[in-house]
Amino acid sequence: MSQQREVDLLVAGAGPAGMTAALVASLQGLSVLLCEKSGQVGGTGSTSAGTLWIPGNHQSRDGGFSDSAAQAQDYLDALVGDPGSRALRTAFLQTGPAAIDWLERNSELKFLPCGRHPDYRSNMKGAAVAGRAIIPEPFDGRLLGADFAKLRPPIPEYMLFGGMMIAKADIPPLVGRFRSLGNFVHAAKLMTRYLIDRLRYPRGTRLTMGNALTARLFYSLKQRGIEILFNAPIAAVEMRDGRVAGATVMTAEGEIHVTARKGVVLATGGYGHNARYREAFMAKPMPAHSMASEFNQGDGISIGEKLGARIAPDEHRRSGLWTPASVTPRADGSKGLYPHLLLDRAKPGLIAVNARGERFVNEAVSYHDFVEGMFDSNANAPSIPCYLICDAVFIKKYGLGLVYPGAGNLQSLLKAGYLKRADTLDDLAAAFGIDAAGLRRTVARHNGFAQTGVDTDFGKGETELNRFNGDDAHAPNPCIGPIASPPYYGMEIWPADIAVSTGLSTDANARVLDQAGAPIAGLYACGNDMASMMRGSYPGPGTTLGPGTVFAYRAAMHAAAKEPLEEPIAGG
Ligand SMILES: Cc1cc2nc3c(=O)[nH]c(=O)nc-3n(C[C@H](O)[C@H](O)[C@H](O)COP(=O)(O)OP(=O)(O)OC[C@H]3O[C@@H](n4cnc5c(N)ncnc54)[C@H](O)[C@@H]3O)c2cc1C
Repeated sequence: MSQQREVDLLVAGAGPAGMTAALVASLQGLSVLLCEKSGQVGGTGSTSAGTLWIPGNHQSRDGGFSDSAAQAQDYLDALVGDPGSRALRTAFLQTGPAAIDWLERNSELKFLPCGRHPDYRSNMKGAAVAGRAIIPEPFDGRLLGADFAKLRPPIPEYMLFGGMMIAKADIPPLVGRFRSLGNFVHAAKLMTRYLIDRLRYPRGTRLTMGNALTARLFYSLKQRGIEILFNAPIAAVEMRDGRVAGATVMTAEGEIHVTARKGVVLATGGYGHNARYREAFMAKPMPAHSMASEFNQGDGISIGEKLGARIAPDEHRRSGLWTPASVTPRADGSKGLYPHLLLDRAKPGLIAVNARGERFVNEAVSYHDFVEGMFDSNANAPSIPCYLICDAVFIKKYGLGLVYPGAGNLQSLLKAGYLKRADTLDDLAAAFGIDAAGLRRTVARHNGFAQTGVDTDFGKGETELNRFNGDDAHAPNPCIGPIASPPYYGMEIWPADIAVSTGLSTDANARVLDQAGAPIAGLYACGNDMASMMRGSYPGPGTTLGPGTVFAYRAAMHAAAKEPLEEPIAGG
């Protein structure tokens, strides 16, 4: 059975990018149909930290953290280079703050400033220490009613007690719940809400991070009555007279042929689970792990490719935007991935070593740069996987991966092989099959750095970002401490992509470009389907969701023939 539908704009993919495009188009008066391959909205966005990098945003300025888009432009020029993508960067910087304000005014999207959250190359010209990152306000999932079940949940590794979400700001009061009355009350409120939730819901309904972002988008779409087709992948886009005429969407009931008068937006989340594209675009050895939604199979890129679109892999270095990940045992017997983003690597008393037992990177750099360091080092010594090494004092105080700070019983994680423990460094090295003498030498040298506070090998603790994720209370260097209290602990670490940077080339209105650089009329790409304007670099927190939101906004405005809001790039 095939059906015919006619709308102004068809959007494929209900992640943050696709939902934003659908929302903006509807707000601009277009009739919109959103088709989603899975049975839930949210995509990888739902399982993300939900941070948006929006230089010059007003939420931060109103919160007392000033920033300037002009400085951000200097930073991006220096970091990204590539004059060819400057037009995209300029459009992003001009539109970002105004688009966010407009979305706040016209929908349920609400953002909070992150305050101090340094850029990831905080020692480069134009980098900011505060004011560029915003996060979604927590959201009450109960407002979605029965549709709460249609919101993709976070990964289990991001939930406490099998279903409770917390925000970064909740961590100190939870860890220090017996240290002050304020902390105790905060922790007790979270727990009470969670316990009440679990009487009625399969997980907690106080949503934070990426789940708050996608829930807010979903709620906004519902309020506007925007139709979402679930389990309905876009399969092909049809052209007529040199422009996009519509697309075929597959459903359990048969194909739907959608005529799309203003065009089609591809927002299917990139190619994280497409083996052919991984092999073609990614670093070697090709990483086995992806943290993207399993439904992100490169469909948008493949559709674009068939229509003659230019895919931009060349300048994208290794194509992934990475996190170091440990492979976790899950309660149902399956395996998951824990992203080592910011809680453990920069704390004092931890090192990362390769198979020679040698350090190869400043452990406190950004998650992306850490994995780039794994690839660089692997050219000389086996560094994939690498190993995080610490001692008993460290793991108790700061935790490690799935081990939360203060966790007492590590037996199940030890038994599952997720964590290894040994009384001597030699035995720990043997457990991983790495060079024992090398590990001993490395730890002795690092313990010397802990005394002087100076890492003469990799400069750990020298940048704002390093220190931000370190331990302020530790001296002389907040990121370097001794590894000297047995038993010793270690964990295997692999590269995993949280996003991809290779995608469909676009102009500043997210119009997909052909091989000659001309727009394919009526075809838009945003989110991870769009070639990243960062060209494989990772400037700061929110590197994909910031541009993902801004270019989704610009795509929808263009489709509606409206001028996007822009502000001059000011400051400096
Ligand atoms: C642990 C983690 C933390 C992260 N934290 C951050 C962060 O704080 N800030 C940041 O900027 N980025 C972060 N990211 C990356 C970010 O989540 C992604 O870059 C972002 O979600 C991409 O948005 P998207 O809309 O392009 O894709 P997605 O969010 O993946 O959504 C794509 C959607 O398209 C659907 N789809 C796929 N194929 C089809 C098809 N053929 N037809 C219709 N629908 C289809 C998918 O099912 C999915 O729902 C994080 C990622 C992870 C894993």
